[in-house]
Amino acid sequence: MPDAAQPPETNAAYRQLLDEVGAFVYTTDLAGRYTYANQLVLDLLGNGLRLQDVLGKSFTDFVDIGEAGDTLRKTDRRVLELGETIAREETNYIHATGESRSYWSIKKPLRDASGAIVGMIGISHDITEKKQLEDRVRKQKELLDTVLDNVHGLVYVKGADRRFLYANRHLAQVFGRPVGDIIGRLDSELMPREAADAFWEKDLHMLATGERYAGEESLIDAQGRLRHYWSVVVPWPDFNGSPALIGLVTDITELHALKEELQRQVRTDSLTGLANRRSFQERAESEFARSRRHGTPLAMVSIDIDHFKQINDRYGHPVGDLVLRDFAVCCQQALREEDVCARTGGEEFCLLLPETGRDDAVAIAERIRAMTAACHPCQEHPELQITASFGVAAMAQADPQFGNLFARADRALYVAKEQGRNRVAVAASA
Ligand code: GH3
Ligand code: MG
Ligand code: MG
Repeated sequence: MPDAAQPPETNAAYRQLLDEVGAFVYTTDLAGRYTYANQLVLDLLGNGLRLQDVLGKSFTDFVDIGEAGDTLRKTDRRVLELGETIAREETNYIHATGESRSYWSIKKPLRDASGAIVGMIGISHDITEKKQLEDRVRKQKELLDTVLDNVHGLVYVKGADRRFLYANRHLAQVFGRPVGDIIGRLDSELMPREAADAFWEKDLHMLATGERYAGEESLIDAQGRLRHYWSVVVPWPDFNGSPALIGLVTDITELHALKEELQRQVRTDSLTGLANRRSFQERAESEFARSRRHGTPLAMVSIDIDHFKQINDRYGHPVGDLVLRDFAVCCQQALREEDVCARTGGEEFCLLLPETGRDDAVAIAERIRAMTAACHPCQEHPELQITASFGVAAMAQADPQFGNLFARADRALYVAKEQGRNRVAVAASA
């Protein structure tokens, strides 16, 4: 290394070396006057300066750095007077170019053979671009954090070790913990074991295949409420390149409730609250298939209220509605939990009776018929009484599909009407 006694300009190889290191390298005497400066320092101090132009002069003779000069002189004194080595970041405003540049500066005392301080050696790296890059990265992180904390959804990153690498504010609220208490924790520490294992099973598949997942999921939150989520999980190599998953989760609890209510409405008759025709058809198809598989009996009853048009005509439509509601209650009272009672048309009803043979179905129909005939459904018109006709059919091994059973029950109902109404008719076997 060059020293004060042996200036490096006497050694061309040293000088070339120092000009090429990509850092500012210089030495000064005890008064801070240059005893050596490499090419980068010369270029910084002024255009076209040569070493002999700067020797014996100070940095501040060339560069006006304003108030920062005081700090600079203090630092230099600590090096020159106290013998400290100082490494710090410095920012200098360069008047020549009108820009601020940042340096990582190391200043060390320069000693002679006896150990006495004779000057200072300085090495500075220009870190302006690096700092600008860091600033941009920090700004981008701030932007991302602001966005992620304010989106109406839960966002997380989970590593292949089941630990959370990132969680946004909404997810922290669901877990009922601060964000800092989630990062690094296992999924099973944050949610019930069973739920965590179920999620992890899916996660493993995505980690193995690199496939994206989208689907509905449910979870009980920190307040013990069942919440429903639309979850999108995307495989992503984490900050170290290890496999990880990004989760983007939207709370759809309200939407889910709405969907369930709509599904219920689609399957329900609004006047009576019974299953509607569509729902009856679905239940009937599946019960028919089940009875087939297990070889168990299945019966159905087709019902039609007698002379209902006359009731409407005589008492008005609202009373007709009341009669229909009352009849629905009457049917339900006569049935078991597993039976299905549906309003399949205006004043038409159907019963589906699983695990029930023909004779039992006839008994049930007869019970409802008798209850109906004995009822006075309208308080305002105590004289109002109604009757209904019933067609009973039992499933036969020969029935290829539910429609066959349905058609036989309807034919039996027609027979009941033909024979004078207010009666139960039974379909002949298939
Ligand atoms: P039958 O003994 O042959 O069955 O005679 P009916 O009068 O019951 O048969 P019809 O099919 O001629 O009449 C059914 C009536 O049911 C006609 C219609 O106005 C009435 N109706 C259908 N839906 C409703 C409803 O939602 N409310 C009321 N109040 N009446 C309805
Ligand atoms: Mg009818
Ligand atoms: Mg009728």
